[in-house]
Amino acid sequence: MANETNNFQELISHCKEYGYIFQSSEIYDGLAAVYDYGQNGAQLKKNIRDYWWKSMTQLHDNIVGIDASIFMHPTTWKASGHVDNFSDPMIDNKDSNKRYRVDHLIEGFADEQKAKGNEQLANDTLAAMDALLLANDYAGLKQLIETNKISCAVSKTCNWTDVREFNLMFSTQIGSVAEASETIYLRPETAQGIFVNFLNVQKTGRMKIPFGIAQTGKAFRNEIVARQFIFRMREFEQMEMQFFVRPGTQMEWYNFWKEERKKWHESLGIPSNKLRFHDHVKLAHYADAALDIEFDFPFGWKELEGIHSRTDFDLKQHQEFSKKKIQYFDNDLNEAGKPFGNYIPYVVETSVGLDRLVLTILSNAYAEEKWNKEDGTEDSRVVLRIPAKIAPVKLAILPLVKKDGLPEIARELMNECKQAFHCFYEEKDAIGKRYRRMDAIGTPFCITIDHQTKEDQTVTIRYRDTMVQERIALADVKNLVISHTA
Ligand code: ATP
Repeated sequence: MANETNNFQELISHCKEYGYIFQSSEIYDGLAAVYDYGQNGAQLKKNIRDYWWKSMTQLHDNIVGIDASIFMHPTTWKASGHVDNFSDPMIDNKDSNKRYRVDHLIEGFADEQKAKGNEQLANDTLAAMDALLLANDYAGLKQLIETNKISCAVSKTCNWTDVREFNLMFSTQIGSVAEASETIYLRPETAQGIFVNFLNVQKTGRMKIPFGIAQTGKAFRNEIVARQFIFRMREFEQMEMQFFVRPGTQMEWYNFWKEERKKWHESLGIPSNKLRFHDHVKLAHYADAALDIEFDFPFGWKELEGIHSRTDFDLKQHQEFSKKKIQYFDNDLNEAGKPFGNYIPYVVETSVGLDRLVLTILSNAYAEEKWNKEDGTEDSRVVLRIPAKIAPVKLAILPLVKKDGLPEIARELMNECKQAFHCFYEEKDAIGKRYRRMDAIGTPFCITIDHQTKEDQTVTIRYRDTMVQERIALADVKNLVISHTA
């Protein structure tokens, strides 16, 4: 039986070595908290995005998808509350000039205490922090940091400024002439593009409540704590769905989507014991209930997806700021024996970070395995057990040797399969080495074409997860892969 270990730093190196994730502008020493996806990472990300899009829009007949712009009218962000409220309490160390998000600084201290066995102190500190955050008590937060002698990782001192708010939105100018230009923001979430299009979609799609609008796309936040690889980035991608419901039914839908989303993550092979719900203590200004679906990342339990009951806050705000009526006329209220009704719908939001999901899938998939061979010697491999349906490459086609007509048969199989799914062809190196490379990329199936193929039209199929090899008919390869990846 294989022996498995899981190591975060090794996962990061692996992502680079096998074309998954690179640091942005690496040749210029990189840009903090910005990353690029390589050939395998981009394909994995696309497969996850497509899987989400399909499960939201194709499998729910009352959810449609849109693609709104990153730039929006600046009043959008006034109305949404982001100009005034999208900030985090920060504190600077006066000696190193390093800035920290207060909650991250205190959580880091609590993690250290837990590692030292001081569980009680860690829990008390976190409980005190939650209460102070809830009360917006910044002086109290500073005192909590000082009392516990929480120091800066760089200067190692406790010489702190006061706690202040810091807005996370990036701004830029629009317009060709500097004087005539106006400050606009790079969107910090995709949701507002859905809200401002609520009536466009509802009317043109003849949508009836309850219904949802889904969207995937880039969002930007000037994050202060830029660490943990692609977990917290300054430019990232969100997959959000706003579900519009009748006022008063929001908790029913909130509970529905909470369970539905957890099941969806499980359908991607994430074990249920590595997912949990975390209810918010301090609710955002727009929410009447909120929770995170957390995943047990290699660096601890952290938010993967947010489920928020956003009330009618956003639509109401846009109605007020735009002076345009944003309401829904509910015919069905009449059928239920109640009068016709015009109202602003309530909203339940599901919001997952695509990059965090990529990290979730990769950390769940990564394994270093060792085992003893029959002759008693040790063997090992690094494997990415990515579910076949989202794996970047589904099938590797490997002629045993570069001659005797074997490459021609392999190329023919490639041509037959590549319309249906991603294949990879390789004829260089010993077959064992080629299998190991495919394990490291996460390719679920390898086909080897050998001399016997010419005689009886059979090939060897090797399964990534079990390393089992068996002979199957060449003619069955395509359907076998389709049956595992569709
Ligand atoms: P956090 O508390 O980790 O900063 P958040 O509560 O601000 O996250 P939301 O505003 O609820 O996050 O955004 C929804 C989702 O978008 C998150 O669950 C996460 O998956 C993703 N996300 C948010 N910020 C980032 C980021 N800086 N980098 C990558 N993904 C992010």
